[in-house]
Amino acid sequence: MSSDGVPQSGLATTEEREQPLLAPYAMRSSDSRGRRYEERDHPYRGPFQRDRDRILHSSAYRRLSGKMQVFTGEMGDYHRTRLTHTQEVASIARTIARGLRLNEDLVEALALFHDIGHPPFGHAGEDALSECLADDGGFSHNRHALVIAETLETRYHTFPGLNLTQEVLDGQSFRAERPSHPKTCLLETQVVELADSITYNAHDTDDAVKLGLVELDQLTAIPLIAATLEDTAADLSSADPRQIRKAMVYGLVDRQVSRLLQYNSRRLADVNFGSAHQAGESPFRLQTDPDLVGPKGELEQFLFQCVYRHPRLLEVRQRAQARLHKMFDGYVTHPERLPGHFQQRIDEVGVRRVAAEYLAGMTDRYCDRQFHNYFTDLD
Ligand code: MG
Repeated sequence: MSSDGVPQSGLATTEEREQPLLAPYAMRSSDSRGRRYEERDHPYRGPFQRDRDRILHSSAYRRLSGKMQVFTGEMGDYHRTRLTHTQEVASIARTIARGLRLNEDLVEALALFHDIGHPPFGHAGEDALSECLADDGGFSHNRHALVIAETLETRYHTFPGLNLTQEVLDGQSFRAERPSHPKTCLLETQVVELADSITYNAHDTDDAVKLGLVELDQLTAIPLIAATLEDTAADLSSADPRQIRKAMVYGLVDRQVSRLLQYNSRRLADVNFGSAHQAGESPFRLQTDPDLVGPKGELEQFLFQCVYRHPRLLEVRQRAQARLHKMFDGYVTHPERLPGHFQQRIDEVGVRRVAAEYLAGMTDRYCDRQFHNYFTDLD
């Protein structure tokens, strides 16, 4: 019996469970550098499982359901939100991690955390907040995730933040500081980077067709998608456009993940790292199969030109940015409108940073409501 009253007999330790599953280059829970505020080990949950749970139960994570990924809620309810995107990234990243015998718990925690700092209205919101803080260090959703984890979330009475392991914080720091990041990077962090782009390439094509922003024929002419559909096991000659769209999304994910696993498992076998530390310290990086780099780039170029810059999205983008600028100015001029716990941070980081942090936590709808309720009087 442990000190928590949990029976231990028959329960394997995290170390015992990981031992037969992980490759030598995978991060082991027992090698974690721990947390800023020391805590007792949990009797049956490993440190990265606990991180995953802390992220999952945070209010910032729940609010991802009300934040747009690319398309706004005004455009329907089919398309991805920031939350469903995050879940898809986690699913794909875990598949890759399992295929390469990396630490799935750590990968899942990193994936669920990776977009937690996103403000409302996607990259339009981030750009607006960055303009607001242009003379104050700018705003980055990747850096903001660290502020959430270390300060803004209050889940425990004995310490601020979520007290995540150093490995999850380091992984997010890598995202925040790339491409100039000089430090080490665990393979688990690299998996999430790759899974993120595989995920959004596939789901943005799906959403764009479903929303009528592009035609299916435009996409099937792109070499990566054409090759993907040719390889699809099912005969699509009698398939309707809806079935072709779904086959395209499945095929895009499967093709990219399969090639990534094949290419990188060979490379990992060749370099033969003896530990996660050795792999992280080396210049080795998990990579997209070179044969897919060009075709993937063509798809991303198409998405950029025809979807992310679509007039319907540009209109949403401009409206959202104008609101955020106005609200930012309003909170800076009237800090008494900020919630008390944000007002308390003003002495520490300044009213401009606090105003941006408060806005960054809002869902799209809450932001709109606050604007209509409190800021139209500032005209
Ligand atoms: Mg993402």
